[in-house]
Parts: sequence; structure tokens; C-alpha cells
Amino acid sequence: MTDARPDSIPRPDSIGRPDSLKGVVLVVEDERAISDLLRMYLSREGFGVHVSVTGPDGLAAARSLHPAVVLLDVGLPGMDGTEVCRQLRAEGNWVPVIFCTARDDEVDRVLGLELGADDYVTKPFSPREVVARVKSVIRRATLAQERDGPLALGSVVVDPVTRRAWVDEAEITLTATEFDLLAHLMANPGRVFSREQLLSEVWGYAAVVGTRTVDVHVAQVRGKLGDADVIRTVRGVGYSAEAGA
Ligand code: CA
Repeated sequence: MTDARPDSIPRPDSIGRPDSLKGVVLVVEDERAISDLLRMYLSREGFGVHVSVTGPDGLAAARSLHPAVVLLDVGLPGMDGTEVCRQLRAEGNWVPVIFCTARDDEVDRVLGLELGADDYVTKPFSPREVVARVKSVIRRATLAQERDGPLALGSVVVDPVTRRAWVDEAEITLTATEFDLLAHLMANPGRVFSREQLLSEVWGYAAVVGTRTVDVHVAQVRGKLGDADVIRTVRGVGYSAEAGA
């Protein structure tokens, strides 16, 4: 294995850098022209983009894809965007939601229903403005997570502030990269990361060094967690952190 940056060399803080926090943006939108435009602008910024064109499909995708943000049209076939959001919140899913509204009366409805929307944009919108809003809600969500202090999953606890980790209350020693990898996965429980995403978000560099590096580090972390392993291998996709993985 070749790791271009040994653990002892300080590196830019990739976890706290907003530009590195790319994930999948779920676009729920039945107007093809709008979803095409959003896909183009968001992809250019390094986000993965998944488009659903009906309310029920959008709800299913929000549950299964663990998107970083949902861009949710209000008027949708099958199920209104407001109902999609209401169901997610009722299930305890607090994925950031940005509503895309067509008219001012829709804005009033979205705000009046107190659906826990994170933001809204009114059509016609500038794609650049939407991208800026997406980045902003991701930044806010990340800051909220960091304020929460230690992360716990199963019998594993990591504290991003002191950079210490424990299994069943016994402290374990992780290298800087192993710590960042585990903390990044545990900060987003259930969310599946591709190896390329982990390279870019944890290591902070492009995927050209080869994704095998990720597998090697995951194996090392697992060796240290032992029976308390919380990293799940998602075949053909990547990794996620889950209790009882
Ligand atoms: Ca629509």
C-alpha cells in the first residue's frame, strides 16, 4: 500500500472544510428542465445528484440514499412535497430539506405547516443561488454535529475534540487517519460513503491515489474495534457506520 501522506504530517482540516463535505443531493422535481439544470450545476460542484420525479419515489430515495440535502419541489405527482417532508420528520429523519416553491402562496404554506424545512427557494431561481443554499445548509448541519461533542454508536465512542476513542469504555489508540475515518463515518450513521467520497472527505485529496488505501485503513480500524466493529461494507458501493454492523 502506498499512502502519500503519513499520519505524522499535519494536513489541512478536511472534515471542517465546507468544500470537502460533498455528498448526494436528492432532487425531487417533476420538471425535467429544472432537474437537468440543477444536476448540471450541482455535479460541477462535486456533488452526487439523484433525481426523483414523483413524491413517493422521492420519499423512498430520501430513506434509502441518506442524501446530504433534499431539494424538494412542492407540486409533485403522487404526493405533495410538503407531505414527503412531513413523513420524513415523522420518522425522525432530519435530513436538511430545501423547498422549491413555484408561487408565493406555496411559500406561505411551507412555512405555515412548520415542517422543519431548512430553507426554501422560489421559482424561477438561479441555479447558482440554489448551489449556495445547498452548501449553506450542509455547513450548518455539520456545525451542529460538531457542537454535539462525542459520537457514540454501539459500544464505540469517539470524541472529535480530544481525538480520543473508546470501545466498551476502554480507550483504544488510533492513528490520525484511522480516527478521522471512523469519526467521519460515525458522524453520519447509516449514510453510505463511496471509497472516492471517503478519500476526498477524510484524506482531503482526489481519488487518484487509489481507493485501496481506504480498504486498508478500514481493515486497520476494524482490527482495533474487534467485536465492537461498527463499519459495514456495502458491496459494490463503499462503507457506512451502523450499530451491530
Ligand atoms: Ca412541480
